[in-house]
Amino acid sequence: MTAADASAVLDRAGLDRLVEVLIELGYRVIGPTVRDSAIVLAELGSGTELPAGWGVDTAPGMYRLRRRADDAVFGHSAGPQSWKQFLHPAHRRLWSAGADGVFVAESSDPPRYAFLGVRGCDLAAIKILSNVLGRGAHPDSSFTRTTEALFVVAVNCTEPGGLCFCASMGTGPAAGPGYDLALTERIDEGGHAFVVDAASDAGRGVLARLPHRAAEPAEVETARADVAAAAGRMGRSMPDIDMRELMLSSRESPHWENVASRCLTCANCTMVCPTCFCTSTEDVTDLTGDHAERWQRWASCFDVDFSYIHGGSVRTSAASRYRQWMSHKLGTWHDQFGSSGCVGCGRCIAWCPVGIDITEEAARLSANSTGGADDDSE
Ligand code: SF4
Ligand code: SF4
Repeated sequence: MTAADASAVLDRAGLDRLVEVLIELGYRVIGPTVRDSAIVLAELGSGTELPAGWGVDTAPGMYRLRRRADDAVFGHSAGPQSWKQFLHPAHRRLWSAGADGVFVAESSDPPRYAFLGVRGCDLAAIKILSNVLGRGAHPDSSFTRTTEALFVVAVNCTEPGGLCFCASMGTGPAAGPGYDLALTERIDEGGHAFVVDAASDAGRGVLARLPHRAAEPAEVETARADVAAAAGRMGRSMPDIDMRELMLSSRESPHWENVASRCLTCANCTMVCPTCFCTSTEDVTDLTGDHAERWQRWASCFDVDFSYIHGGSVRTSAASRYRQWMSHKLGTWHDQFGSSGCVGCGRCIAWCPVGIDITEEAARLSANSTGGADDDSE
């Protein structure tokens, strides 16, 4: 480890200064803030907009803000949104054309984002999206240009929520590679501080502009221990089995009908998932017919039209659509993109209106496949 790689410590004012410095450097700083009774991701004008003193309680189909007993800034688990909405927007115009037949492609300069507060699970999700959208013969240039300009301030998680299971997916609670700066928040008798690690030249450059001091070895050790301890306090875990194999062997499981009896096919789970990437395109004209546009919109495999092939949809039942989502997410994603498509953020469980829990469904499928007790024979 070089001197430049040694951990540093910021105080609360230093965190606010971090937001100021990033704005001075021309970044649009996106971070957590309280709005509409939730912690959402939005553009920040200053560090005072961060959700200091707010936590959340989550359960299947439930998300509630709550006041914390301290002023922790990052003492909350994942909210309804993910960073996907900034890298892969829910809708965007691809091109427009006039009656003269001239086509104009959308080619505006990508925003220079600085993401503040990216958890390990969500950093892994950005990497997964990069594998999906940023590689291959035809990468999504809007996505790649935005991610190339991205500055990431990660947060090592010390307070997992009731629906978190990143530890069992290997994506947290410590932030993996891909950040410029990583913060570990600490509140103790010594005060409120953030142990900072810089992992890029850009990160080191920003840190140099902040009021900070070198971290004591004991502070670094305690911060690492807090993060390691968080791994044992996850509210959920994915069964420790070969999920790809389970999905393959569960194709005809009766459990899909069990899920379908509860699933509303509302698509919430795909909208909140930080890795679901599917889109459809839509052509529109104005009333004169002189102007046409093509728009890209997020799509969901829970929509009956998603599998429409000349003459009808392939997946007409809720059982087939839930099976498609889960089998792709946990199974065939490995074949397509070399990893699981799930990072264990728990959003799909909290924001499912009927509280369907992907870890629970995986456990039941596993019990079915091994002939153990399950609820499908009742
Ligand atoms: S499937 Fe659910 S838990 Fe997994 S990454 Fe998507 S939203 Fe998060
Ligand atoms: S699993 Fe839940 S969130 Fe997903 S489509 Fe079904 S009801 Fe909606």
